Amino acid sequence: MSFKHQIIIVGGGNAGISVAAKLLKKNSALDIAIIEPSEKHYYQPAWTLVGGGTFNIEDTRRDESSVIPSKARWIKDAVSSFEPDQNRLTTKEGNTYTYDYLVVAPGIQLNWHLVKGLPETLGKNNVTSNYSFDLAPYTFESIKAMKPGMTALFTSPSTTLKCGGAPQKITYLAADYYRKHDLIGKIKVEFCTAGKVIFGIKKYAVQLQKVVDKLQVQMNYRHDLIAVDGPNKMATFKLTDENGTITEVTKHFDMLHVTPPQSAPDFIAKSPLANDKGWVEVDKYTLQHTRYKNIFGLGDATSTPNGKTGAAVRKQSPVLIQNLLSFMNNKELKAKYNGYSSCPIVVGYGKLILAEFDYDNTPKETFPFDQSKPRWSMWILKKYILPWLYWNKILKGSM
Ligand SMILES: Cc1cc2nc3c(=O)[nH]c(=O)nc-3n(C[C@H](O)[C@H](O)[C@H](O)COP(=O)(O)OP(=O)(O)OC[C@H]3O[C@@H](n4cnc5c(N)ncnc54)[C@H](O)[C@@H]3O)c2cc1C
Repeated sequence: MSFKHQIIIVGGGNAGISVAAKLLKKNSALDIAIIEPSEKHYYQPAWTLVGGGTFNIEDTRRDESSVIPSKARWIKDAVSSFEPDQNRLTTKEGNTYTYDYLVVAPGIQLNWHLVKGLPETLGKNNVTSNYSFDLAPYTFESIKAMKPGMTALFTSPSTTLKCGGAPQKITYLAADYYRKHDLIGKIKVEFCTAGKVIFGIKKYAVQLQKVVDKLQVQMNYRHDLIAVDGPNKMATFKLTDENGTITEVTKHFDMLHVTPPQSAPDFIAKSPLANDKGWVEVDKYTLQHTRYKNIFGLGDATSTPNGKTGAAVRKQSPVLIQNLLSFMNNKELKAKYNGYSSCPIVVGYGKLILAEFDYDNTPKETFPFDQSKPRWSMWILKKYILPWLYWNKILKGSM
């Protein structure tokens, strides 16, 4: 079957729904269809708190039907290929859709299978991940299962990832849990990251180092997880030293929290919309596709070199909408996205550093105080205010 819509949005996640809702607020006569395969919509930022045992997993999930704007059509299907020269795409169910304008927002792909042995042991043997709705509650179970003399490992991959701070946040929550239960120093907490520094912006790095010292977290840099043996509780890392020499190191664990390698979705990477790394190739300021002018993109799937977060989506969506509407009216594209992203780094129960920055890694803080200091007020923002704003304002197009 073949169908036509004025605007098609690929992906009904944070970005797709925000854009649809905002566009319809500006002009309710627009003919918008959202192609989204999932029955459920997730508020992923709270999975960190679920893993720390301080947020109800069920409050992070709602029916997709409840977040689709009433004036948009939901096509419950997945896009499989694009023919942008014909303004056409095809779905898994074999239908074709043509459009005047396309917004591409299918998020990032989690590549669990790229770590040998990982898929078989996830959810067992205290191997877990906050990057999955199903596993986030098991993270807290695993944290609680640790006893004196045991080792908890937390990993961060070498690939681009969504919410680059999330691997650290759960490390600090676990370490703080042990501090609160008089187990600090008795349970070994290690952060194994493929990265070379604690955080890319000095202002926040200095404060995070203090957290690491206080909570006695051992930092293992240049460690990229490549294999897991769940039953024998062994994790193997590729280690690249300062001269580029590669070796392998295997560590014993009693608990392993994995942040999986991530990439652009395969169906994007193999499409004409992709750049050479597989991401939807858009201008980093206007969010318009660099080759197909009636296509725009935002969120985790695009080539823009910002931190991939919902906070970035919040700043990208008004830019995309203004530019899309200008393009539809043959006007110049004037709105510009400055690369803003934010990382609310939970550094313990009731403590949060709110890092905010742009393309140049220049801090762009919202509040009139030093946000690099751990604060209870910012924890309240993360735990209560942001989830409420997400469901009630951001997805409704009023923020
Ligand atoms: C553990 C964790 C902690 C995080 N913490 C924070 C935080 O503190 N602050 C913050 O701002 N952000 C955080 N994030 C990141 C944030 O959730 C994402 O950056 C945000 O959801 C990106 O929005 P998106 O719409 O691009 O992708 P998503 O919200 O992931 O949505 C993508 C949608 O596309 C759909 N889709 C996939 N394939 C297809 C297809 N073939 N056809 C059609 N649709 C498709 C998917 O089903 C999905 O609904 C966190 C994420 C995780 C996992």
